[in-house]
Amino acid sequence: MEKIKFFDTTLRDGEQSPGCSMSANEKLTLAKQLERLGVNTIEAGFAASSPGDFDSVRDIGQQIQNSTVVSLCRASKTDIDSAVEALSDAKNWGIHTFISTSELHMKHKLQMEPKDVKSMAVAAVERAKQSTDNVEFSPEDATRSDPKFLVKVLSDTVRAGATTLNIPDTVGYTTPDEMFELITMLRNEVFNADKVVFSVHCHNDLGLGVANSLAAIRAGARQIECTINGIGERAGNASLEELVMALKTRQEYFGFESDIVTEQLFPSSKLLSQITGVDVQPNKAVVGANAFAHEAGIHQHGVLKNPLTYEIMTPQSVGIKSSNLVMGKHSGRFALGQRIQEMGFDLNDIDLNHIFKEFKRLADLKKQVFDEDIEALVTHGIGKKTDKFILKDLVVTSGTTAIPTATIVMKIDDKVIKKAGFGDGPVDAALNTIKEITGIDCTLTSYVVKAITGGTDADIVVASALAFLNALNRLEIRTKGHSLATPSQKAALGGV
Ligand code: MN
Repeated sequence: MEKIKFFDTTLRDGEQSPGCSMSANEKLTLAKQLERLGVNTIEAGFAASSPGDFDSVRDIGQQIQNSTVVSLCRASKTDIDSAVEALSDAKNWGIHTFISTSELHMKHKLQMEPKDVKSMAVAAVERAKQSTDNVEFSPEDATRSDPKFLVKVLSDTVRAGATTLNIPDTVGYTTPDEMFELITMLRNEVFNADKVVFSVHCHNDLGLGVANSLAAIRAGARQIECTINGIGERAGNASLEELVMALKTRQEYFGFESDIVTEQLFPSSKLLSQITGVDVQPNKAVVGANAFAHEAGIHQHGVLKNPLTYEIMTPQSVGIKSSNLVMGKHSGRFALGQRIQEMGFDLNDIDLNHIFKEFKRLADLKKQVFDEDIEALVTHGIGKKTDKFILKDLVVTSGTTAIPTATIVMKIDDKVIKKAGFGDGPVDAALNTIKEITGIDCTLTSYVVKAITGGTDADIVVASALAFLNALNRLEIRTKGHSLATPSQKAALGGV
């Protein structure tokens, strides 16, 4: 059976969505999970966007063994040279270059004549081809481009050496029937179309990202660009988990397989949510909290008698397992390390001693420690070695009559600082005091409390203080030193 290749752009397009920016360590952790998931290609970022992004793309390229790692590049020599430099030590790598081909973009964004756009596309592919055989070209805003011009540009880039032609529905405008016709036409008209792989990159502005991608597959596309949880610019990209399970559940209809390990879908979704703090909606297909919940009595009755009555796929097949008690206060360091490895993390990435201490503290506080708790400890631990602000101790007093007070001990660059402060409530007092100690002028715009596992045994004040410090540490990384490009800097560079 023929395979559909999955090109994941969670770390590039996905990261461009509001609230989803990640640190270099977090990106590397996610890249390793994408490799376990079995994606064929990981778009690690945009190497030319900042020195931090360059380093991040390089690190991912060097540490990923089984997936191909690519960097996005504008159709310019400097972007391509920077990506080549970042990736040339990687085991498997490629270059993804793009330029807009729609009338609207060429005139108002690029302010260029179509013939010059075509020359730039060709020059970019030629430049990339000098360093790698794996060159993907994307005509940005393809679905709103003049089809005749599209055929010319794509034919010339194939002549220049492009091996994959990616057709982006950059603004999420097309429909499944139109996408089917476009891919069919391009496969008939483009020079040597049978020698290259057709790919699509569909945005979800009208909620059609997955449907358009599936229509493209029916028309002959063999690579799909998508993201975990469907994150990405505006309404996001086609969601990887939905595409994978559509192809698998309806295999007799589509007739394709893939290299995706479906049992890693839910863990990947969970990891991304934990890293970014952005949850999927409960009714999200495949990975939402309610995706396998049966509420109606008649449905429950049916599922108990035979799951096939209302379940087209099993929760187990996407890696959802019910929370089970794994460890308690008497569990040792070795057992914890083993459990963490079983959950898919690499012990080399984490400070096990630190996590073990946190685990013991949690086991004292909570009666039961679930997989999700351990996962949270591990993901919160990622990148901790470089943190500037560390919470050492926190005491709050509050009641119906007392003024809420917080006493905080923190370590900043190895210096211990103590301070007490007030607030409207215990959380407010803790956060105010932390803010005073760090001296960072910031405004908390969003505050959400959510228990990772059921129950009310978690300490909200401590959790809030740690989350706030995490945000301040990220802010610190972003404003100082070798930082990654900010979302607005990235937005200025664009993408497909
Ligand atoms: Mn995109």
